[in-house]
Amino acid sequence: MSERVIPVIDQRNLRATIPNQPVPATGLLGDRLGRPLRDLRISVTDRCNFRCNYCMPKEVFDSNYKYLPHSSLLSFEEITRTASLFVAHGVQKIRLTGGEPLLRKNLELLIEQLSALRTPEGKPLDLTLTTNGSLLRRKAQALKDAGLQRVTVSLDGLDDVIFRAMNDVDFPVADVLDGIEAAKEAGLGRDAKGGFSGLKINMVVKKSTNLSEIIPMARHFRGTGITLRFIEYMDVGETNGWQMDEVLPSADLIRMLQTEFPLVPLEASAPGETAQRWGYANAAGEFDPALGEVGVISSVTQAFCGDCNRARLSTEGQLYLCLFAAQGHDLRRLLREGASDADIASAIGLIWQQREDRYSALRGLQPASTVTSGKKRVEMSYIGG
Ligand code: SAM
Ligand code: SF4
Ligand code: SF4
Repeated sequence: MSERVIPVIDQRNLRATIPNQPVPATGLLGDRLGRPLRDLRISVTDRCNFRCNYCMPKEVFDSNYKYLPHSSLLSFEEITRTASLFVAHGVQKIRLTGGEPLLRKNLELLIEQLSALRTPEGKPLDLTLTTNGSLLRRKAQALKDAGLQRVTVSLDGLDDVIFRAMNDVDFPVADVLDGIEAAKEAGLGRDAKGGFSGLKINMVVKKSTNLSEIIPMARHFRGTGITLRFIEYMDVGETNGWQMDEVLPSADLIRMLQTEFPLVPLEASAPGETAQRWGYANAAGEFDPALGEVGVISSVTQAFCGDCNRARLSTEGQLYLCLFAAQGHDLRRLLREGASDADIASAIGLIWQQREDRYSALRGLQPASTVTSGKKRVEMSYIGG
């Protein structure tokens, strides 16, 4: 079979310009729509040991697929240096992702470096990671020891047959559940009240595949202190053959849950928070903290671009301003060509000031291809979720 490479980015358009006028890191940066820069997602590898068909379908990500060579990846030192410049500009939260981040060798060394960063006010960062959980039993304690506070585990169902079909590599659900146990034992996500509010479970719902898992998943995690969040299946990337009729709108999902468990709406925990929160109610119809909460992330049916404060750094150091962007800005070139911290910080500042991305909001108003001017959107496994 001939070699296939997905053109994830248009190389001709990659630029990251050092502005003539410095853009000082004041922490007050705003984009063209007045949105601050608070959240940085860093993809540490484009590889994964799963082949979830909504993300890395096997037919495309097969043995002929060309992953990035190691030399293309940002080193831990390059990541930490870049992250520190984002922090100076106002970033308070960093999420490591991928591909499967736990496949990146010695990831705990990166966690150690990132957990030493401080905001301009001297506060530690909110440092977290999204994982498929397959390697958590082996890695949870080392990650915690290195300074990781929280973790999000992706889990699309409890039924072993459905779960194995969704990850498409026949990975047993019991091992992910054991990984979640290992995270708890290590204290990842443990809060001051003894709950696990920092340990979250993400379930992508694809109507044809795991609709039947919604209620069992809710029942399983209700009352455990762990928050389950349902994510609408998104049209991210170009390879997953996305169709709207596979999306279960969050409003329908909440109605479905309400038939089993009374729920009450809760306030957003922070500005720019992607999940809408619902609390399990007691017999009096009031939120019962002992039963906990669920979240819904309505990326398709209710765009939350209005307060999107997230930047994304790809595995090879391209800065993306939106999950659905077709092109990035080449920070790696600046890093490797010897630019100073002040120059790179200015470039980041200028790029953010010029940002006007709001793909999901526009998607509702016009055909998807016109939002990205016909250019191919970057893959989720490259940019990170
Ligand atoms: N491999 C890790 C994992 O699965 O948690 C981290 C990377 S993965 C790309 C990050 C998150 O994106 C996961 O929770 C995954 O379920 C979600 N995701 C991937 N493709 C998606 C899609 N098409 N729609 C919605 N969520 C998606
Ligand atoms: Fe891998 Fe995560 Fe994508 Fe699944 S969602 S294929 S685990 S990167
Ligand atoms: Fe943010 Fe882009 Fe998602 Fe809108 S579509 S919320 S701008 S990442």
